[in-house]
Amino acid sequence: MKITAIETVPVTVPVDRRVGTVADAKGFRFQSRLLMVFVRTDTGLEGVGEVTASPDWSGETSAGAKALIDTHLAPKLLGADPRQIRHCMDRLGKTFANPFAKAAIEMALFDIAGKFHHAPLYQMLGGAVRDGSFALRFPVMPVGPEASADVARRMVAEGFRTIKLKVGHDALEFDLARLRQVRDAIGSEVRLTVDANGGWTVSEAIAAAPHLAEVGVTFVEQPVHRLDLEGLAEVRRRTHLPVMADESVFTVQDTLRCLQLRAADIISVYPGKNGGLLNTLTIAAMAEAAGVHCAIGSNLEWDVGSAAMAHACMAIPNIRTDLYAADIIGPVFHTERAVASPLLAPEACVRVPDGAGLGVTYTGPSA
Ligand SMILES: [Mg+2]
Repeated sequence: MKITAIETVPVTVPVDRRVGTVADAKGFRFQSRLLMVFVRTDTGLEGVGEVTASPDWSGETSAGAKALIDTHLAPKLLGADPRQIRHCMDRLGKTFANPFAKAAIEMALFDIAGKFHHAPLYQMLGGAVRDGSFALRFPVMPVGPEASADVARRMVAEGFRTIKLKVGHDALEFDLARLRQVRDAIGSEVRLTVDANGGWTVSEAIAAAPHLAEVGVTFVEQPVHRLDLEGLAEVRRRTHLPVMADESVFTVQDTLRCLQLRAADIISVYPGKNGGLLNTLTIAAMAEAAGVHCAIGSNLEWDVGSAAMAHACMAIPNIRTDLYAADIIGPVFHTERAVASPLLAPEACVRVPDGAGLGVTYTGPSA
């Protein structure tokens, strides 16, 4: 089997404002500008992938990823066998960075290989280690205390059992007021976590810790700047709160450094950020060897990217969905669907699609 073409289609998907403005410590996002990737072969088998581009996150944009794939990455794979995924990804690995662009191509290759072998993607990652339904964690954006509590209350009523508050965008007192009001709104049984998206200094994070513990926050995600792994390690050493590394760990090499510095208790992984599922497998195994858990994070993927994440959860033992609710929240935030069967299941869960490859029938815009 040979790859005959790789086509890219930019897509803009609106974000549903009823579930709360999408924002993080860097700004607000009202729509997702994605790039769909279609890999065609000489057998007629085709695969689909998604570049969940976000300049604030990975430095990638939909337009930039399109140019990179069309002119630089696609030519490297024309004529290659799409089932030899590691070989193909090694070719792409010679290009620096651009993890979400590479991950989209890899997603499409897995989709083709799965269809060829009549196997769902998770089977090609080693098979199921848990059943295929994952509870989600709902992120509340940095809006005021009343609005934060209101969104959290509504989401708990919809079945969410874990709420994550985006913090670090405003003064600590403001965030603490939000946290107290949210805790009052959701009761003591619902789990509460915070994600500062690197918005705190080391001393601010350390000062925040006892207040976070007081309202029952179970871990703090990316308290300090993504490049400050020493700072992350210091926060971890000087507080009792478990620390999750998100922006700090994109690559296998980031993982090594994070583990060497003992900078995190939990590492957030996802195929896009990691430059593909093969890297996610490696990162999760490295963390497991060091006694560090992984959890599935998110860049607000649309349905194709979300499906790949769900397959990873199903097959990778150290993605501890039993301990940490999954961030596969793109299907909650995007009202337009990209696949024939919805990934969202009742009680705020995502279900792994059943069919071969990614298991989805893509219904969005195509080439
Ligand atoms: Mg995060």
